[in-house]
Amino acid sequence: MEAYSQIILASRPKGPPTLRAFRLETAPSPAPAEGQLLLKTTYRSLDPYMRGRMNDAESYAPPVEVGGVMEGEVIAEVVQSRHPAYRGGELVQAKIGWRTHAAVAPEQVEQVETGNNPPSTALGVLGMPGFTAYSGMKVIGQPRPGETVVVAAASGPVGSLVGQLAKLAGARAVGIAGGSAKCAYVRDQLGFDAVIDYRAQGLARALAAACPDGIDVYFENVGGPIWEAVLPLLNRYARVPVCGLVAYYNGEIPQDETRISRTMITVLRRSLLIRGFINTEFVPDHYESFLKELSSLVAYGKIHYREDITEGLASAPEAFIGMLSGRNFGKTLVHVS
Ligand code: NDP
Repeated sequence: MEAYSQIILASRPKGPPTLRAFRLETAPSPAPAEGQLLLKTTYRSLDPYMRGRMNDAESYAPPVEVGGVMEGEVIAEVVQSRHPAYRGGELVQAKIGWRTHAAVAPEQVEQVETGNNPPSTALGVLGMPGFTAYSGMKVIGQPRPGETVVVAAASGPVGSLVGQLAKLAGARAVGIAGGSAKCAYVRDQLGFDAVIDYRAQGLARALAAACPDGIDVYFENVGGPIWEAVLPLLNRYARVPVCGLVAYYNGEIPQDETRISRTMITVLRRSLLIRGFINTEFVPDHYESFLKELSSLVAYGKIHYREDITEGLASAPEAFIGMLSGRNFGKTLVHVS
């Protein structure tokens, strides 16, 4: 029987996770029951939300138990099918966690729908992160020609698409990213109008200079000092899709009454729309149009994306830790087999 591996949550991290929070285990391959499929992971997605699952705290989804397999989505090959609708060799998408193999029922898998694009895009630009950018912009951001759209984590799968969609809508795109290589990519490859390295000095001044007409859409991926710099620049009727707050995921949420009050005063005075969302709420109304529009835009090279791929399941903890601190450059994936 073929050996298989999985990565479990060994302990709950306090602050930024270290390798001690994870443990790689080996075990025999699971045998699919009648009607089931045996899957072998090809690509594993690593996403910021997984940090939240490591905490025993209230969230929109329950935490992973200590000793349980880390959660998340993969592209997998059907290596054995005991169901008439599937054949060996087919690629599917499934939430089987950080494992090399799993036996699942057909209801737990979905088709890989990437058109002529590589299957790995189903975990990035043509998958959950891409849909998050698309739906957040379509439903909440609604950029108009000539408006200014700002997004941080701008080289990542969500931020990179937010800026490119802003450009397609005729708006100005201003990105915020960490380090000169990411900034050059955002400006030169993705075509943003301006980009700011938030790790350099003078974020607030640089952002104001890059947004001479203020900010009409701020797509919030980060929080913290970036939000502080954005708030004074928001125009009347600006829209703020609150997608993620990665600056707080390691538990460093500032308890500062003055900041909250300052935010609320600006919300009122400038009639701001600040709307949090989880991408799944927009799936029924928008997923089909997303796939149709984006798979052709990507295939024709009108939307660019970048992947940061490490080799082997054992590389996942380090890659995940790196992503939370910005060491990734593009959509974080693990090529498992
Ligand atoms: P990325 O691949 O862009 O990875 C996270 C990035 O965040 C890092 O590369 C780093 O980029 C940046 N970052 C980390 N810490 C900080 C910090 N303290 N200040 C500023 N930037 C920081 O992630 P995704 O594109 O997958 O996700 C982007 C956001 O979208 C996340 O907040 C995520 O949780 C959220 N999200 C929300 C969903 C929803 O349904 N609401 C669904 C999917 C994602 P850099 O080096 O440029 O700083």
